[in-house]
Amino acid sequence: MAETLIQTAVCQFAAPVLNRLARVIYPARCLHCGDMVEPTDGLSVGLCPSCWREVAFIGGLTCDACGVPLPGQSDRAELCDDCLSNPRPWSHGRAPLLYKGKGRHLVMALKHGDRLDIAPVAATWMARMAGDLIQPDTLIVPVPLHWRRRIARRYNQAALLALGVAKRLNRPCCPDLIQRHRATPSTRGQGRAARLTQMQGAFRIHPKRAHLLRGRPVLLVDDVMTTGATLAAVAETCKDGGATQLSVLLLARAQKAPYIGKIENTAQDTTEDT
Ligand SMILES: [Zn+2]
Ligand SMILES: [Zn+2]
Repeated sequence: MAETLIQTAVCQFAAPVLNRLARVIYPARCLHCGDMVEPTDGLSVGLCPSCWREVAFIGGLTCDACGVPLPGQSDRAELCDDCLSNPRPWSHGRAPLLYKGKGRHLVMALKHGDRLDIAPVAATWMARMAGDLIQPDTLIVPVPLHWRRRIARRYNQAALLALGVAKRLNRPCCPDLIQRHRATPSTRGQGRAARLTQMQGAFRIHPKRAHLLRGRPVLLVDDVMTTGATLAAVAETCKDGGATQLSVLLLARAQKAPYIGKIENTAQDTTEDT
């Protein structure tokens, strides 16, 4: 017991010292341009002032279900047109970034560029948005990759984000709760209906993890949401498995271009085919 207390005290003393030492040896660098940055606890953590100004952080009124920015102000929860016409199988959704410009570059670098250093900072941004989505027994679950794609990429970016968010919110995370047992062809450039059809039956609950899900609220984590078809399929799987309440937390939310109705910046993207 005494030994454990001493170890805890040493760890509490040593951690800040080691962190400061690490910053001297490995000064913090901007995730986007690589310039050195001052350590900060603010939203700009991880970015130099110039890049921070050009990353579209979402603020103000947002859709309560998908996190997309809405015009105006309101004292009550509001929904965007998409969520009104296509109700989501989850209750609430939040995202710190719009999927455009330098924010989009960060998401793509994490997803396809082996930039694993982006995940801890992104998880910090996401955790700050998740306050009202979390209950005492919430389980945090990432959107899974098919095993062949995970082997090719060597990691699941959504799992890295989910583990980072769980650590910051002090909640449990189960990265393999949901399995993507059917590989789906790329959904690039497809509309919501086609994506929904393609995703049907693509997910199942890991048989050895099913007991973790029953009767619990779940926070689903993914890197980016475009139409929401993948998230909807995972959410329905969780519902079938007994989850009581579902929310989603995303690193970035793609937004339809005004008056055009198409999702911005997705023509050459691989969003939602993960
Ligand atoms: Zn920068
Ligand atoms: Zn919405």
